[in-house]
Amino acid sequence: MVDLQMHSTYSDGSKTPLELVREARDLGLSAIALTDHDTIDGLTEFLSAGRKYGITTVAGVEISVDTKLSNNGHMHILGLFIDPDDQDLKSKLNYLRTQRNLRAEKIIRKLNELGIQINLAELEEEAGEGSIGRPHVAKILLKKKVVSSMQEAFDIYLAKGKPAYMDKVKFGEADAIQMIKDAHGLAILAHPHLMNFKAFKDTAEKILTLQKLGLDGVEVFYSGMPASFSKELQSFTKVHHLVNSGGSDYHGLNKDHIRMGFGKGDLNIPNEVYSNLKKYWLNSKVELFRST
Ligand code: AMP
Ligand code: ZN
Ligand code: FE
Repeated sequence: MVDLQMHSTYSDGSKTPLELVREARDLGLSAIALTDHDTIDGLTEFLSAGRKYGITTVAGVEISVDTKLSNNGHMHILGLFIDPDDQDLKSKLNYLRTQRNLRAEKIIRKLNELGIQINLAELEEEAGEGSIGRPHVAKILLKKKVVSSMQEAFDIYLAKGKPAYMDKVKFGEADAIQMIKDAHGLAILAHPHLMNFKAFKDTAEKILTLQKLGLDGVEVFYSGMPASFSKELQSFTKVHHLVNSGGSDYHGLNKDHIRMGFGKGDLNIPNEVYSNLKKYWLNSKVELFRST
């Protein structure tokens, strides 16, 4: 069993990269990928833990994409097998981090205006080594008993359309895909059902547009993805020569209904998903070599 999407304390997960690797070993998983949101700072720890515990660890990242989707849909693109030392990717992700900090200041100002006492230092402490996101704000509001759950913090203050919501700076589709390819990774569309298209043909059309921009594959296994959607997606990727990926989107205690490897109890991603991705990645390297 493999799990190719999870988050650590470097973004919005509750476990360190080392703890993730240990958990994967205890569960008997054969390969895992760390795909923190907009950062690759956790990868050094993750890869060295993988060597130590004999688990295959894949260097990844998850990038939020600026694209217009209705029905509250969102698009995330995963980079898998990226070069963890790629300076260009690091500097682009650092830019996002700086923008996230500026956004955090604006969210704080809005909450202060609503009479809620919260400051940047508290938020930075909550985020630790991770880049600041709305879940960190939600956690502080919960600790201060301003709300009674993290979900309530989103529902009242932080979700889109609520009084302390602030948009986040994101890269567009082409840029997000290109920055992953430039760092020698595979670009994979994460959880395609969360783009929230009503008809499958619209999902399919969007994926084909992304493929023209260099998309390599699609996440066809994911916690809570409807089985019929997953099946339809697998037929689609086969016809269009897209590679399949899959992951639980494990966040540790921060999303405690999702388990590493098993998702919501509905996952069991076969080892060949990993080996096919690896094969696909190696072939793309050979082709790159031939064309240069
Ligand atoms: P950010 O990157 O700072 O915009 O935070 C995004 C994260 O906030 C997502 O990964 C979710 O974990 C969480 N989130 C976003 N919208 C909601 C919502 N409406 N309810 C609960 N959690 C949410
Ligand atoms: Zn996350
Ligand atoms: Fe995602």
